[in-house]
Amino acid sequence: MSPESNPSGKAQYKRVVLKLSGEVLRCSETGDPISWDTLRKICEQIKEINELGVEVCIVIGGGNIFRGLAGSENQGVDRTTGDYMGMLSTVINGLAFMECLEKMDVNTRVQTSIPMNQVAEPFILRRAIRHLEKGRVVIFVAGTGNPYFSTDTTAALRASEVQAEVIMKATKVDGVYDKDPMKHPDAVRYDELTYIDALQQRLNILDSTAFSLCMDNEVPILVFSLSEKDSIKRAILGEKVGTLVR
Ligand code: UDP
Repeated sequence: MSPESNPSGKAQYKRVVLKLSGEVLRCSETGDPISWDTLRKICEQIKEINELGVEVCIVIGGGNIFRGLAGSENQGVDRTTGDYMGMLSTVINGLAFMECLEKMDVNTRVQTSIPMNQVAEPFILRRAIRHLEKGRVVIFVAGTGNPYFSTDTTAALRASEVQAEVIMKATKVDGVYDKDPMKHPDAVRYDELTYIDALQQRLNILDSTAFSLCMDNEVPILVFSLSEKDSIKRAILGEKVGTLVR
């Protein structure tokens, strides 16, 4: 949508869940798990949409630090232990977001699915909603609190609970294609898809648990790329960014 078609510059969504994979934080030059430069750039966009009055929840992954499945396959770590290590990784990332946003004068609250009183509030839905209503960015960490799940599923769950209008899922690719655009230069990007189309074409948008939760609870998923300039803000303003699955 051009500025002419949205002259008010008003946000098209009131409440969103932003799902970020831990990998978005990794520093491409040094390989460090957290690039503060990248983090700052993402937080600048979050601040802007927060100032537009959008209620923002963040679900952050932990893949830049540890993933349970990879740990069990590659290092022989017990799967459940590995999954807890993965969930704790999301706490580290969440605190990094908190720190960065607070330094930019954005009020935040971190809510964790695994109690750790000194570090973060426990996840309490009504409290989370109250924070959102007060304009605070709520950062959900520690996944669902259960092994064998993912942070995509956490995003689907929390989005259903807080009744978010959309899950904004940032990926490396700028939307959903009919085939892998890295391998097929003629791949076509969809602007919109239904859940059923995505299932029939076996398009991997979220893992299957997360996807069914979204479909059953009618939570739309916007798949977009963070590397496109201002993509979060543009999507919020109603520009055609990425692919909307609903
Ligand atoms: N995890 C888990 N339960 C959850 C969410 C996450 O066990 O509800 C663990 C799992 O090991 C996962 C890791 O935490 O691999 C990091 O999450 P994820 O892989 O979803 O992070 P991302 O790929 O988004 O960075």
